[in-house]
Amino acid sequence: MAKWGEQQHTEEKIKQVAQWIIHSKRTVVFGGAGLSTESGIPDFRSPGGVWDKYNPEDFYYQNFIASEASREKYWQMATDMYEPMKKAQPNPAHLAIAELEKIGKLDCVITQNIDGLHQKAGNSEEKIIELHGTAMHVTCLHCKKRYDRDAIQERIRRGTKVPYCDDCGGPLKPATISFGQAMPERETEEAYQRSSACDLFIVIGSSLVVQPAASMPLIAKRNGAKLVIINRDPTPYDNLADILIHGQAGSIMAEILNAVKKQLS
Ligand code: NAD
Repeated sequence: MAKWGEQQHTEEKIKQVAQWIIHSKRTVVFGGAGLSTESGIPDFRSPGGVWDKYNPEDFYYQNFIASEASREKYWQMATDMYEPMKKAQPNPAHLAIAELEKIGKLDCVITQNIDGLHQKAGNSEEKIIELHGTAMHVTCLHCKKRYDRDAIQERIRRGTKVPYCDDCGGPLKPATISFGQAMPERETEEAYQRSSACDLFIVIGSSLVVQPAASMPLIAKRNGAKLVIINRDPTPYDNLADILIHGQAGSIMAEILNAVKKQLS
């Protein structure tokens, strides 16, 4: 628990962020895996995170392309991770972001997450930019045909080890961006554009080490936006933040939302 002095300091920061949100014309929220840990989905780098369980190399796109054995391993890991993701519910941080949209205070949420929790929380599709794709769909790497994830998981439950496209026979892969895979053009372009045009950029739950996503806060800052970082652990850009809050995303975002509503009422 934070000491009394620290607690008071955090409350002042929360009030300041709320004021900035109220006066902002374009607030961009930028989320990472830390936004969803309180929903029970592990992040990558924290103790007990995904990297403690799996070898990062097994996620490389080149390996997926290279061999049937790698694809089989990938689908085992992906299946393992999908079940808890599907059951997960939005936490107070997602709900606060959805509420910011409802009260007209959200330009967009740029997310590195693939878990669909912003949609479940109530943000509209056009406000969500999924930079690293989504685990809720599957795509054929050859003809790009899109499948519902549950339908493909059902094939795997029945014994398929590596699913292939019904139309062209190409390999199917969750519609997420793996390490080494090209970023989605439209989403990346839009994220850059929104980051440069905003006046307030709020990072929530990201280690800010995965590129090119991690360059978005820099772009925002260079173009004159205020930068707020809310994260449990330090990030490489902490010294650039106008306000830095170390702590749990859920409670901090709920308090920021309360402060916004209080100041608006
Ligand atoms: P990361 O694992 O590198 O870092 C997560 C950060 O969140 C850490 O710095 C940690 O201190 C912080 N954090 C963890 N729990 C927190 C909490 N409750 N409140 C505040 N901060 C908290 O994650 P990243 O920066 O998003 O990048 C990793 C990549 O992993 C991304 O590309 C993303 O696509 C992918 N990923 C996504 C999910 C998901 O969809 N939920 C889960 C795991 C990984």
